Amino acid sequence: MSGATRVLVLNSGSSSVKYQLIDMADGARLASGLVERIGERQGRIKHEPTGHPQRERYEAFPDHTAALGAVADELAEDGLGLDSPRLAAIGHRAVHGGTRFTEPTLVTDEVVEQLRELIPLAPLHNPANITGIEVARKLRPDLPQVAVFDTAFHAGMPEYAARYAIDKATADAHQVRRYGFHGTSHQYVSRRTAQLLGASPEAVNVIVLHLGNGASASAVAGGRCVDTSMGLTPLEGLVMGTRSGDLDPAVVLHLHRVGGMSVDEIDALLNRRSGMLGLCGDNDMREIGRRMDEGDHDARLAFDIYVHRLRKYIGAYYAVLGRVDAVVFTAGVGENDPAVREAALTGMDSLGIEVDPVRNAVRGGSPRLISTDSSRVKVAVVPTDEELEIAQQTFAVVRRSSASEQP
Ligand code: AMP
Repeated sequence: MSGATRVLVLNSGSSSVKYQLIDMADGARLASGLVERIGERQGRIKHEPTGHPQRERYEAFPDHTAALGAVADELAEDGLGLDSPRLAAIGHRAVHGGTRFTEPTLVTDEVVEQLRELIPLAPLHNPANITGIEVARKLRPDLPQVAVFDTAFHAGMPEYAARYAIDKATADAHQVRRYGFHGTSHQYVSRRTAQLLGASPEAVNVIVLHLGNGASASAVAGGRCVDTSMGLTPLEGLVMGTRSGDLDPAVVLHLHRVGGMSVDEIDALLNRRSGMLGLCGDNDMREIGRRMDEGDHDARLAFDIYVHRLRKYIGAYYAVLGRVDAVVFTAGVGENDPAVREAALTGMDSLGIEVDPVRNAVRGGSPRLISTDSSRVKVAVVPTDEELEIAQQTFAVVRRSSASEQP
C-alpha cells in the first residue's frame, strides 16, 4: 500500500452522489464533484479538478452504476482514475449505523448484509448508501471500502442520554432510542476547536452547534459526545430549514385523530414543510435576514423561534457539561450568519460567554475565535469538513487493517 495515499469519499443519496478525492499525504483536495438527478430523464455531473476549470455535463444517469461510471470517467480524464495505484480506499458516508456500527468499518459482504437490516431505521438514506457501496465495490473489487457512520460519534452517549422515557421493552423491540446524526461533523469540529484553543481534545468541553439546512447541537466532553439534539431520526432537536425539531409527540396524534392526516402526510409535514420554511415560507437564512431588514413579521417570528430553541439547547448542554471551554458554530448558517451567532449568545455574560461584535462580523473561511479576550468561555467559528473527516477515518482503518496483515 506504500504510495497509496488517496481516498475517494462518496456520499450517495437517493438521486445524487457527491464525491471528493483527497490525498492523505498532505490533505490536498485533488477533485470534487456532484452527480444530480440520477434516475431522471436528464441528469447533471459537475466535476471540479482542483486548480483547473470546472466541467459540467448534462445527460441521463439511469442509476447509481451509470452515475459512478461517470465519476470514474471524469477522474480518469484528469489522470486520477479509479485504477490508479495511488488510490488507497473508498470511504462511504453512511447515515445510520444503529447500535451495530459504532466505528468506521471495513466493508465486507457481511457488513452490507447488516446495513440492509438497518434500513427500517433510515429508510430514506441507508438504501442509497448501500447502493453506492455495492456499485463502488463492483468498480474496484480489490480496493478497501470503508463505511463511516453519521451516528458513530454519538454511539458512546451515556444510556441516560440515549434512552427515551418510554416502556423499555417496547423501545428495545423496535430499536427506539436516540442515535444522533451529523456525527462526522461534530467530531471534526470539536477536535479542530481543541486545536484552535491549543489544547488536546481530551482536555476540553465543547458545545458544537451544527447549523445548516439540517441542524443539531452536541455536548462534547473530553472528545466524547455526551448528548446530542437529534434522536431516532434527524427530526428531533433544533428548528431546521424544513424540519420542526422538538415537538410534543401528542401533536402527531392530534394531527392524525383530529386533523385527519395520515402518517405519511404528517411525516412530510414535519420533515419537509416545517421549520423555517413552514413558519415563514423561506428556509434560506439569507432570505430570512433580508426580509427581517424590511420589517417582515413572519420572518422575524421564525428567526426568534429558531434562536429561542438554540438558546435552550446551549443552556441545557452547559448544565450537562458543567464546565464549558468553548461554544462553536459550524455549517452553512453557523459559519456565515453573524446575526444568528449574536442572537444565540447575547446576554450570557453571567455564564462567562461574551461575543466580540467586531470579530463576529468578520467573514472568513478558517477557524477563528469571535469571543472577547475576557470571555471565560471561548466562542469559535469552525468550518466543518465532513469529507476530510471521512477520508481520515477511512485511511486510518485501511492502515490498521494492512498493518495487522503484516507477517
Ligand atoms: P448547509 O446545509 O450546511 O449547506 O447549509 C445551508 C444553509 O446555510 C442555507 O440553507 C442557508 O440558510 C445557510 N447559509 C448559507 N450561506 C449563508 C450566509 N451567507 N448567510 C446566512 N445563511 C447562509
